[in-house]
Amino acid sequence: MRELFREQDITRVSYYKAVLESHEIPTLIRNEYLTGAGLTEIPIPEFFPALCVLNDDDYENAVSIIREHLTVNQKNADLEIRCISCGEANPGNFETCWSCGGALPVLGN
Ligand SMILES: [Zn+2]
Repeated sequence: MRELFREQDITRVSYYKAVLESHEIPTLIRNEYLTGAGLTEIPIPEFFPALCVLNDDDYENAVSIIREHLTVNQKNADLEIRCISCGEANPGNFETCWSCGGALPVLGN
């Protein structure tokens, strides 16, 4: 099993899970039920829902599918935020890096 990304917003994690399963890639969400329980007021990335592929062999494939969807589905595809931690490009409406889970700089409205 290998983690693809983690994201505070479970709806986005579920969305990509559905996308990958439509490509017949078995996935699993870790920490699905840990957030939103009011354990802490400060979001802790370690406890964010994490999307994982069950088979490590699917990892590269899954990443490229997610990347495709990031560009295709993004209304503001030209609006990218570079992750400070790993340098990966993220869509402008992401709050945490899809790749490493680090906090992204907030874009001004
Ligand atoms: Zn990152």
